[in-house]
Amino acid sequence: MMTQVPDTPQALYRALPSMDSLLADAALAPLLQRYGKAAVKAALDSQLRTARELIAQERRLPAWCANPALLNGYLVDQLSKDYSHSLKPVWNLTGTILHTNLGRAQQSEAAIRAVTSVMRYPTPLEFELAAGERGHRDNAISGLIQRLTGAEACCVVNNNAAAVLLMLSAVAAGKEVIVSRGELVEIGGAFRIPDIMRQAGCTLVEVGSTNRTHLKDYEQAITENTAAIMKVHTSNYHISGFTAAVEEARLGQLCRERGISLISDLGSGSLTDLRRFGLKQEPTPQAMLADGVDLVSFSGDKLLGGPQSGLIVGKQALINKLQSHPLKRALRCDKLILAALEATLIHYLNPETLDRELPIMAKFARSQAELRQIGERLQRALAPLFAPSYGIELVECQTQVGSGSQPDTFLPSIALCFNAQEGGSLTLLEQHFKQAQRPVIGRMAQDQLRLDLRGIDDEAELLAELSTLGVQL
Ligand SMILES: *Cc1c(COP(=O)(O)O)cnc(C)c1O
Repeated sequence: MMTQVPDTPQALYRALPSMDSLLADAALAPLLQRYGKAAVKAALDSQLRTARELIAQERRLPAWCANPALLNGYLVDQLSKDYSHSLKPVWNLTGTILHTNLGRAQQSEAAIRAVTSVMRYPTPLEFELAAGERGHRDNAISGLIQRLTGAEACCVVNNNAAAVLLMLSAVAAGKEVIVSRGELVEIGGAFRIPDIMRQAGCTLVEVGSTNRTHLKDYEQAITENTAAIMKVHTSNYHISGFTAAVEEARLGQLCRERGISLISDLGSGSLTDLRRFGLKQEPTPQAMLADGVDLVSFSGDKLLGGPQSGLIVGKQALINKLQSHPLKRALRCDKLILAALEATLIHYLNPETLDRELPIMAKFARSQAELRQIGERLQRALAPLFAPSYGIELVECQTQVGSGSQPDTFLPSIALCFNAQEGGSLTLLEQHFKQAQRPVIGRMAQDQLRLDLRGIDDEAELLAELSTLGVQL
């Protein structure tokens, strides 16, 4: 067919099908149905533009002029890109369980069901079914939080950064807040305690030194302008050696005597004993409240294993102040988050089920022996598919909690490691893994692409994914 077309540009341009004839082609009907005329036309336009460039530069027609099935394929590729989701599932085999860049905590099946249901149907978000009157959206979880932490009341906002901002704004705007110099942390991004203080309109009063702060430092800093003492859990770094910090119980006593509030930013507050997983015990909100802290804030998607949110628990009178502050309206959570959070907290009513129900706990709970067995099965099945360009071996590695939680605690784990051999390239392999149906994200270390198996969800699915990747090489 193409040999009949003389090679002059004019003749080639004339040989290009018109937009109208392309749109009328029956083969395009399914695309028109799915993506609509405007999108299909735009995609055809771009193909025709490329074709005209080809004629101008190389004096030839694109291959699809002779083979219309090719054009259909290009259009499908182009159109489906617009409809593909960028927030799709990936495999987090990075060795960091709570990976902020990969969305932190995976949710329990109960939380997923709860979110789906409130997305699909109306739900009494701000409605008391029993009384038939208007209710408060935080009521969905306040009963649970009270049972789990012994708090008088609670307030839920978008994340823990928002929780800290709200606490400071409602309790201490225009006044002084005393913080130990050892606790002026940066959490990441633009979240630094001094900045958040300024944003909340508080005056930061620093006391003590980086490594040691004593009760008398706090005592001497209290003036008639002091609204609160704030404790910040330095969860993302660790100072050792000659150190001193004042315990909440003693600060609580001081604050009560002087009529000021004690507030605490716990960061990744855990509600359960993490020592059974080989992690360190985190200070819990319930322990803080028992020690006399007035307000405690913590994240919903760190060690709690729920959705992104910030929880503030504590004294009813202070929580009332938070709830009626204008910022609360700006920082409040939507029904999806509250539904997931409620479902997550329900698991904590029976802590023995946590390892089974909460994905992050299930991942913490895996033993290195179990991971080694999984690794051996994967290695046996995959090695022939990746040879000879890549070799696969198992190495011992260390899983981190992540999200700034317990930076110096590691869980012994096993990594499936890919080494480049003849003709192989680790950079290419890493790219290839990232382009998978469900991208596989590992970690480059010591000339290997390492997949920490503690992060896997389903062994059979990972095997299928990696097998496909191996065959495609
Ligand atoms: C993580 C953390 C925050 C921020 O919490 P987000 O939920 O990520 O907003 C604040 N303070 C401390 C001490 C933290 O560890």
